[in-house]
Amino acid sequence: MININENFLNLQDSYLFSTIAKKVSEFQKNNPNKKIIKLGIGDVTRPIVPEVLKAMHKAIDELGNIETFRGYGPEQGYDFLKNKISEFDYAKRGVTISPDEIFVSDGAKCDCGNIGDILGEDNIVAITDPVYPVYLDTNVMAGRSGKYNNKTGKYENIIYIPATAENNFIPEFPNKVPDMIYLCFPNNPTGTTLSKSELKKWVDYAKENKALILFDSAYEAFISDEDVPHTIYEIDGAKEVAIEFRSFSKTAGFTGVRCAYTVVPKELIAYTKSGEKIELNSLWNRRHGTKFNGVSYPVQRAAEAIYSDEGQRQIKENIMYYMNNAKIIKEGLQDAGFTVYGGVNAPYIWLKVPEGLTSWEFFDKLLNEVNVVGTPGVGFGPSGEGYFRLTAFGTKENTIEAIERIKNMN
Ligand code: PLP
Repeated sequence: MININENFLNLQDSYLFSTIAKKVSEFQKNNPNKKIIKLGIGDVTRPIVPEVLKAMHKAIDELGNIETFRGYGPEQGYDFLKNKISEFDYAKRGVTISPDEIFVSDGAKCDCGNIGDILGEDNIVAITDPVYPVYLDTNVMAGRSGKYNNKTGKYENIIYIPATAENNFIPEFPNKVPDMIYLCFPNNPTGTTLSKSELKKWVDYAKENKALILFDSAYEAFISDEDVPHTIYEIDGAKEVAIEFRSFSKTAGFTGVRCAYTVVPKELIAYTKSGEKIELNSLWNRRHGTKFNGVSYPVQRAAEAIYSDEGQRQIKENIMYYMNNAKIIKEGLQDAGFTVYGGVNAPYIWLKVPEGLTSWEFFDKLLNEVNVVGTPGVGFGPSGEGYFRLTAFGTKENTIEAIERIKNMN
């Protein structure tokens, strides 16, 4: 008799985006003449830049020529791309990451989930709350969560570290020491960041406790403040305690193209139950080579083109376009009397919902009264209750109109 992985039965259905979609389509059906503006999605809208398209077209043509055809590539990614990553994303920031510490993949989402394959089942997991839901669900699937408690909205074995206005969105060390700590900065959904000195505290804490930091910097390209680290490896000692996830999705509009990478430094070690030290780089290399067959050649050539002078100029233009939207949202909401966070080093704006409303009630109010769609904060974790996320990924025209409507709301 075939058995299932019963951990999957422990997953809570995520009703967040399906409930939003249902509410929006119902509203549109009943109000066909109303123009709904969606500032809820976390997907980009600007097209891929010409320099990247040119490289992708060229690579596709190469595949049609017997002289330049390529079949399977290296599972870890082609050197032409890994060398650029090493030089531009690390060396230029004073950090040494060698190409064999970089693993190119088809998404940070997959990597954030798959990394659990090489880590012990009994590890205690800590996530910040609210947070990108993938960290939690993949640990539920792996059996690290314990049972779900309906009353608290939490899994019994997961450590939830609140990041709210009360602590200035700076997660504090939990009472119980975790083995795996997920940190995402700039943060989705709050749009907030950690300074170098705050991040250093976590690196030191991980070192002291022989814990591993899983650092998701999918929104690194949106950082503008000097004191916000672009990579965790800017912090001394981080190579001994942290894996970093990066993605071209939001950086260069690759959400549909799919390309990302994960850095597993050689210095990074974890332990067997008997205390033997094992290099995580070699474990991840083995896992990656066994379960993944590499990102397609044209996509890696496209990613490489991001690092050319013209590629950089063009993607930065798109990032500035989104960050201008973020400014419009942030300043507009502040003018309207809202308390607003994020939106400076990240394309997300996190606002406090008006006193007396839950985040879902505020969702309904925005949809019904001004026909604007956002995301209720509670969908990202229990500490997200009372907050609401708007994204800067819409068009400038729609963003301006949405904020005008909110300003005029009763
Ligand atoms: N990490 C965070 C924090 C995200 O918000 C997202 C996408 O929304 C991802 C990772 C997914 O990245 P990718 O498109 O590379 O899978």
